[in-house]
Amino acid sequence: MGQPALPRCACCGYRTGCTTCPICFWTDDGRTDPSVSAVHGSRNGDLSLADARLNFSIYGASAPRYRELVRPPRDDERP
Ligand SMILES: [Zn+2]
Repeated sequence: MGQPALPRCACCGYRTGCTTCPICFWTDDGRTDPSVSAVHGSRNGDLSLADARLNFSIYGASAPRYRELVRPPRDDERP
């Protein structure tokens, strides 16, 4: 508490402040809501932000292959 809020992950919304989110394994590539369905073939491969959010709601990770790599969010990371 008392710390400035970290940037929110574009995919899961938790405030991890990491380039690659440890909670959903989305890699921040600058995409936000206006380009939610765009695919740039960047750090997240062919995964769109819309797909990543859908995957997170189903699998708890931005892609099924990341399920073993993610961890539960901490209380201080909640949006
Ligand atoms: Zn995330």
